Amino acid sequence: MFIDNSTPYGGGGEPWVPECRSCRQIIAQGQKQAQVRFERHEDTRLQALNGTYHEACAKPILSVKRAYDAMRRFGGG
Ligand SMILES: [Zn+2]
Repeated sequence: MFIDNSTPYGGGGEPWVPECRSCRQIIAQGQKQAQVRFERHEDTRLQALNGTYHEACAKPILSVKRAYDAMRRFGGG
């Protein structure tokens, strides 16, 4: 088993492990992850989705975000 001693946390305490906001599973090191970030001026329901996801889990959310961004552009803000 490979043990990585290069964590920046030193000893003591558990290193922070990102958790996917969609499936609630840990995002292991090396797994692809995606950040979802809705801005403050956007819908608070969308802001609630902000966080770290598995890349695959983020896809539907990012596509919603893209559609939403496009809609905003059409609506002129
Ligand atoms: Zn996930």
